[in-house]
Amino acid sequence: EHTKIGFIGLGIMGTPMVRNLLAAGYRVTAFDLDPARVKSVVGDGAEGASSIPEAVRDADVVITMVPASPQVEEVILHEGGVLEHIRAGGLVIDMSSITPQTSVDVAKAAAAKGVQVLDAPVSGGEAGAVEGVLSIMVGGERETFEAAAPVLGTLGRTIVLCGPHGSGQTVKAANQLIVAVNIQAVAEAVVFLEKSGVDLEAALDVLNGGLAGSTVLTRKKESILAGDFRPGFKIDLHHKDMGIVTDAARNVGAAVPAGALLAQLVGSLRQQGDGGLDHSALVRGVRRLSGE
Ligand code: NAD
Repeated sequence: EHTKIGFIGLGIMGTPMVRNLLAAGYRVTAFDLDPARVKSVVGDGAEGASSIPEAVRDADVVITMVPASPQVEEVILHEGGVLEHIRAGGLVIDMSSITPQTSVDVAKAAAAKGVQVLDAPVSGGEAGAVEGVLSIMVGGERETFEAAAPVLGTLGRTIVLCGPHGSGQTVKAANQLIVAVNIQAVAEAVVFLEKSGVDLEAALDVLNGGLAGSTVLTRKKESILAGDFRPGFKIDLHHKDMGIVTDAARNVGAAVPAGALLAQLVGSLRQQGDGGLDHSALVRGVRRLSGE
């Protein structure tokens, strides 16, 4: 594969995504603010970059996987950023979860420079990134989507063009709403079952076989039972996503009452110092509400 990829943001998701691109034969030049993270993927065969221009200069495709809208603006739009240094005709795929409006802004700025972009946020968590089976929700033009298909196919399994620029982010916001409500429901059920003295593991197994079953329950069961809340997906990032979905829903006049409640609950966990924990730590919040 001759496509050269510049990859920016080597966190919990970005690092295994780079590994999958390398395994598929892509040449990857990688940058993160944290040099230790760059060093780690260099050990896997990536070229290390010490700046954005260095990561972008020779790239056909640039992928960004950073926390939120401010970092995407900084990395792609600001002086010294991706749009300033990518070659004309290059392709930028932003896979971070950000506000749909930022993706639209990025697309406008890119069009002015003759650069193609897609918003392509993902779902499937760290495990989905490691296994290369992410669900990828894409916004942008069909032609660009088709050009990006081989790269996206290396990272994910369910890859869908959802509509114009920003649509991928809108769908990802809906994804986060469903996930947050689902985890909260699991957390409440767990505390209720624990306090009732029922065998929790047996209960979760039978629940997972019925209509209450879910990917959340399957993936989070072991860590909830073990009380292991290492991230995974940080509460801080989930709080950011609940802000995105409540704002975006307000902009279109959609009611998201459970989403608004979850924004509050996830926010309260952050205030209690749990922002760096996995979002399954919502069960800690329920325990506190239950007087534990
Ligand atoms: P993370 O905090 O583990 O990693 C983010 C990385 O971006 C860090 O290594 C950080 O140093 C780097 N970074 C931040 N600002 C930068 C900048 N200006 N230039 C270069 N690098 C910069 O986060 P993550 O869990 O990998 O999540 C990344 C994105 O993917 C977020 O938008 C998140 O919402 C989304 N996401 C995460 C998961 C998950 O399960 N972790 C799942 C789906 C989507």
